[in-house]
Amino acid sequence: MTTKFLLEESSLPTHWYNVVADLPNPPPPPLGPDGKPVTLDALAAIFPPTLIEQEVSVERWIEIPEEVREILRLWRPAPLHRAHRLEQALKTPAKIYYKNESVSPAGSHKPNTSIPQAYYNRVAGIRRLTTETGAGQWGCSLALAGQLLGLEVRVYMVKVSYQQKPYRRSMMQTWGAEVFASPTDMTNAGRQILKTQPDTPGSLGIAISEAVEEAAGRADTNYALGSVLNHVMLHQTVIGLEARKQMEMAGDYPDIVIASCGGGSNFAGLAFPFFADKAAGRQVRLLAVEPASCPTLTKGVYAYDYGDATGLTPLLKMHTLGHDFVPPGIHAGGLRYHGAAPLVSQLVQEGLVEAVAIPQLETFEAGVLFARTEGIVPAPESNHAIAATIRAARDCAHSGEPKTLLFNLSGHGHFDMAAYDRYFAGDLRDYEHPAEAIQTALSHLPKIT
Ligand SMILES: *Cc1c(COP(=O)(O)O)cnc(C)c1O
Repeated sequence: MTTKFLLEESSLPTHWYNVVADLPNPPPPPLGPDGKPVTLDALAAIFPPTLIEQEVSVERWIEIPEEVREILRLWRPAPLHRAHRLEQALKTPAKIYYKNESVSPAGSHKPNTSIPQAYYNRVAGIRRLTTETGAGQWGCSLALAGQLLGLEVRVYMVKVSYQQKPYRRSMMQTWGAEVFASPTDMTNAGRQILKTQPDTPGSLGIAISEAVEEAAGRADTNYALGSVLNHVMLHQTVIGLEARKQMEMAGDYPDIVIASCGGGSNFAGLAFPFFADKAAGRQVRLLAVEPASCPTLTKGVYAYDYGDATGLTPLLKMHTLGHDFVPPGIHAGGLRYHGAAPLVSQLVQEGLVEAVAIPQLETFEAGVLFARTEGIVPAPESNHAIAATIRAARDCAHSGEPKTLLFNLSGHGHFDMAAYDRYFAGDLRDYEHPAEAIQTALSHLPKIT
């Protein structure tokens, strides 16, 4: 009985897969405040040229620089596991596989993009990077990349996570980054929010505003984003490219590919290479899983909106709950984002990717079952993918169908034990879908004709 499928270091992908080459329709362009497509020059204030090129590229394959591959080899190729014990616990005929992205130094998939982003910035002569972080996973990943590639990193960390996850902050500092609880009084965006909402738990949208404002104001500083943008989706495809080879080693192919969705990058990373097969005619379902308290893909609208809370970023055509929607302070901090990647949104809109929203308690129940069968304590974000996988496996138990399920274990939960404590103490709850808050936020969408 094989439980683990391992690739040689030499099988690390040499190229990233760009899904844009296989989309049925071209992606709607980002727009400026005047409603016209943004010029590439406007992006150059905060991004290096190569990342801007990748953002708009239509090439199917883009080469991974050798120095980036050398660093990725510290933990890649990542293992793919067959979850025999979870299958047995569920008494399901389904075969469950998971790609294990928890093995990176930062504990999640996010260094797959922080490393190339830091690399291209260094090549462009940039010395400092700013960013935001929710649960701290992205901040850690960029801190790691900055350390390995010789760039300074400043992180605006969403206040509720800063309080809930002090050790994530310590980890960023260990890798040499500066960390502040957002909103801060160091930026106009932060001060503006603090004036109207002094008790805000913060949000990714607010922290992005702060990081972008600082990067735009300094020539030696650029901004790095951990998800949402096309180049981030691109860098994450190493996950699915490896997983496709590993499923072949297993002599199997997934009926359903499942991943949690915050900004969309770990989903895109696993699912897009399988979308390439789907575009070529193969049967495969792709399922993005989001929290019921922040139901961007399932309850948001597909419209142009800002990527941040105060309107500094270009307008992106995406599923959104409105840029000023502040989600409840759930423990899956990495999934508390008002929008979703334009590429993932477009595929949902075109019916090529499915989405489901799952309440918090069900996700922790799933994560605990996973820990007790497979051993790894998953991140609360990953618990969403596990919960959806368990739903599908239970459906198979009812129907008797032996489906093949593949999900992304996007990270481990070693820094999330306070959340597990609260779950065991019965202190966690399901948040009602905040329909009124969403309606209000949606009424603030920018008007584009
Ligand atoms: C950040 C994060 C996510 C969600 O972010 P995406 O942009 O949707 O990938 C999921 N899982 C973990 C462990 C994370 O750190």
